[in-house]
Amino acid sequence: MLTSVCGINWGDEGKGKMVDLLSEEYDVVCRYQGGNNAGHTVINERGKFILNLLPSGILRENVVNVLGAGMVVDIRHLSGEMARLRAAGVKITPENLKISDRAVITMPYHVLLDCLEEERLAEKKFGSTRRGIAPVYADKYMKKAFRMGDLLHCARLRERVEEIVEWKNLTVCGGYGGAPITAEETFAYLKEYGDPLREYICDVGRYLHEAAAAGKKIMFEAQLGALRDIDYGIYPYTSSSSTIAAYAPIGAGVPDLKLDRSIGVMKAYSTCVGEGPFTAEYFGEKAEKLRAAGGEYGAATGRPRRVGPFDAVASSYGIRCQGADEVVLTKLDILSIYDEIEVCVAYECEGEILREFPYPDLLEKCKPVLRTLKGWGCDISKCRRREDLPREALDYIAFIEEACGCNITYVAVGAERDAVIKLK
Ligand code: GDP
Repeated sequence: MLTSVCGINWGDEGKGKMVDLLSEEYDVVCRYQGGNNAGHTVINERGKFILNLLPSGILRENVVNVLGAGMVVDIRHLSGEMARLRAAGVKITPENLKISDRAVITMPYHVLLDCLEEERLAEKKFGSTRRGIAPVYADKYMKKAFRMGDLLHCARLRERVEEIVEWKNLTVCGGYGGAPITAEETFAYLKEYGDPLREYICDVGRYLHEAAAAGKKIMFEAQLGALRDIDYGIYPYTSSSSTIAAYAPIGAGVPDLKLDRSIGVMKAYSTCVGEGPFTAEYFGEKAEKLRAAGGEYGAATGRPRRVGPFDAVASSYGIRCQGADEVVLTKLDILSIYDEIEVCVAYECEGEILREFPYPDLLEKCKPVLRTLKGWGCDISKCRRREDLPREALDYIAFIEEACGCNITYVAVGAERDAVIKLK
């Protein structure tokens, strides 16, 4: 059984919490794209954990966690994340953590280049998380990156370091006028942070294949959401990887296997971090009210998130991109602050009403068409069964299902692991 849990929106939908909850039934949890540029926040009986690189299954005993081939791994960050979890009593061994030999290593010079480029862009900056993600994916496709497997197998690692550093300095010094990086520091860095990870590095494809053949249940956990996908998102304000469910088997290490189930995680309102078009955005006091109620500050960066009402146009598109058979609607409890709840049901673009998500460049010209629904105006965070939810909350869910043509199977009403209602 292969299941993906993916984001329908711009990321931060609460995927981490859902993976943490649903992984109870799974044997393996796998990350398949991205790096430490986003964070999952998981709250359970052991405390509050921010996971940037490790799959959420790491918090469960008996779950094997995989960092797949499609990922970019900042080895220093990973070491720190592992140390923090260990200090909180979480067990991490080569039995429950496996890192793909094909995953690419994010180097300090990728982070440096990310920062230099954002500074060069100044007012026109992309709002990069400055974790080196775009530069490292660019190097991957330039075939000038180090992979985790190089830490085990590359007899000529020292030589490759020389070659790559020479090439990299053409950009760092030549292009940006930065201080040169040296082969010595680069090699020493790979040794310092890479060597302790060696025992976790393996051919995860073989492991996953055997696990699937043995009937194990495998979950693929995505970072970010459909609208941040490099191909299908709001390019160029996207991430640099594929956040799409269909990519999960490839990015994990089992390109021959097919997903059995795609679960899309969708927020009951909209949030977005960084620059780029965000059609249904709230501003001023209206934004502050929703941001404060939802605690909408980035897990990886602490940046305040942009907020707005639920966007049925963008979400329908996200559901289609993810091929989501079922949808989990999260943070419904936050909307308890409203007597009346706005929903964006269409876009108006130069006098035309759009119900389909347009080519990203057109979004700049789009204005939201809002519908107002009745709120429930009471605390629903203690509700655990469908029957506990007020009529207006059920109507809100039904409205979204209808507007997006989706099947909402769970709603989340709080950050805690058990604050979830199974609807169907
Ligand atoms: P992810 O990257 O998709 O996992 O999302 P984040 O971790 O960035 O953001 C989700 C945040 O919302 C986390 O702090 C969660 O603990 C919290 N959260 C998830 N679901 C709910 C919910 O239904 N209600 C509330 N109030 N908080 C939630």
